[in-house]
Amino acid sequence: MDPFCNICFKNYQAAKCELFCTDCQHVLCQECLKGRDFCGMCNKKCRLMKISNTMPQNMKKFFTDVRPELTGVIKIVKFQDAQRAIGANHAQRILKEYYDSKRRLEAIKKEYDELGKEFAKVKQEERSSAGSNRGSFSTLRTPQSSVSGNSAGTEKKR
Ligand SMILES: [Zn+2]
Ligand SMILES: [Zn+2]
Repeated sequence: MDPFCNICFKNYQAAKCELFCTDCQHVLCQECLKGRDFCGMCNKKCRLMKISNTMPQNMKKFFTDVRPELTGVIKIVKFQDAQRAIGANHAQRILKEYYDSKRRLEAIKKEYDELGKEFAKVKQEERSSAGSNRGSFSTLRTPQSSVSGNSAGTEKKR
């Protein structure tokens, strides 16, 4: 970017005059400064730095077109954002899978607990029925054994 005096608009390249950059962010030529450290744009005392190839790199940047560099940076930022989004999607998917698994596990646990209760209930019923039928246990067993196999056959023959 070609600097120019902000007051008389003399171009550095065209006029070959000395231009100065001020700490109030203005560019002034030697003629407009009239040998003073006074900014005609702000009407304030200012610090000056001569614009030249020997000025510090961080100051040179102000007169260098950074747009091509910026386009590259924007590409990099877009790429990195896309990468982050892919990573975030993956993390989200993993998290969803974790919660789904947890939910399934809880459902299974609940089912298991209910089965356990059912089982305990059946066992309790079995035990109490066995206790109350203790006296007639042998008579209860007799018809059962008569149904099975040979005994049933022998019963038929009789
Ligand atoms: Zn000027
Ligand atoms: Zn100024």
